[in-house]
Amino acid sequence: MALFLPGRTRCAACGEVIGRADDVVLFPPGLFDPRSVLFRFDDACAHRACLTGDELSREALAALEFFRRDPVAFVRSLDDD
Ligand SMILES: [Zn+2]
Repeated sequence: MALFLPGRTRCAACGEVIGRADDVVLFPPGLFDPRSVLFRFDDACAHRACLTGDELSREALAALEFFRRDPVAFVRSLDDD
C-alpha cells in the first residue's frame, strides 16, 4: 500500500499536499500498468474528493474499487487489453 505521510504526501490527482484531516485513498503498487496513463495512481495517494473530478481520476478509483471487490476478476480483466 502507498506510503502516506500527512502534510508531506502529494495527491496523485491534484498535486496538492494531503493533510491529516483529509479523506485519503491509498492505491496499492502494481495496480496499473507502467504504460497506462493511470500509472500515476500506482502506489500513490489521493484526496477522495479529487477522485470524483476528471475522467482519469474516476477511472482510477473505479479500478481500485473493482480490484478490492474481486481481485481475481480484476487480474483476469487485464488479459483482455
Ligand atoms: Zn487532490
